[in-house]
Amino acid sequence: MKQNFAIIGLGRFGGSICQTLIESGQEVLAIDSNEDRVNEYMNIATHAVVANAQDESTLRSLGIRNFDHVVVAIGEDIQASILVTLMVKEMGVPNVLAKAVNEYHARVLDKIGADLVVHPERDMGIRVAHKMISRNILDYIELSNEVSIAEVRVSNPKFYGKTLGQLNFRQRFGLTVVAIRRSKSDVITSPAAEEMVRENDSLLVVGETADVDILDEKMN
Ligand code: ADP
Repeated sequence: MKQNFAIIGLGRFGGSICQTLIESGQEVLAIDSNEDRVNEYMNIATHAVVANAQDESTLRSLGIRNFDHVVVAIGEDIQASILVTLMVKEMGVPNVLAKAVNEYHARVLDKIGADLVVHPERDMGIRVAHKMISRNILDYIELSNEVSIAEVRVSNPKFYGKTLGQLNFRQRFGLTVVAIRRSKSDVITSPAAEEMVRENDSLLVVGETADVDILDEKMN
C-alpha cells in the first residue's frame, strides 16, 4: 500500500531516507530551511520545499497533519528538533520518527511522543560491535533494550540436513527463527518445524539480546 511521507531536514540521514523511499515507489515531501539542500532533492523527491519547520503556520499550510509518516531529521539544532516533533505530534500525525544526536535528546523525543526515536551513530556502533564480536552474525538490530533480531550464518556442518524441529531450535537456544535465507533472492519466511537447514543458509532469529549474543558460540 502506498503511504505518504514528509521528511524535515535533508542532511545525510534525512536525505538517505528520502532517496530510499522514492526508490521504493513512495511519495515524499522533502522539507529543509536550506535552499541548497532543497535544490539537491528537487528532482528526487515528489515535492521539495524550502521552509522553516519551526513555524507552526508553515507546517499547517504544508498539510503536515495529513501525512502517514513524518521524519524529523533535524541534526544539531536540538531545540528545533524537539519543537518540530512536538508540533507534528500535536497535529495528529500517527507515525513520527525523530533523529536524536545524544541520549538526553533521545529521552526528550521519547517523552514528547515521538513514535520511534533513532540515534544513528549509536545504533550503527552497536550493530558494528556485535558483527565484530561474532564472525557469523551478518546483521543485528536492537528492537528494545532486551530484544534483538540477528541474521546468523550456519557454519557448523552438524546443523546441515536437520529440520528446525529436529534441532529443537527454540528450546535449545531460546530464540525463534523468523526466516531462513538460502540465497540472496530465496528467503523462507516463518519457517515451519519441518523446514530443513542447509549448507550456506543463514537464520534470522529474534529473542532476548543475551541469547542472541551467545547463539553463534552455542551453535559451534
Ligand atoms: P545529518 O547528520 O543527518 O547530516 P544535518 O545537521 O547535516 O544532519 O542536517 C540537518 C538538516 O536539517 C539541515 O539540512 C538543516 O538545514 C535542516 N534544518 C535544521 N533546522 C531546520 C528547520 N527548523 N526547518 C527545516 N529544516 C531544518
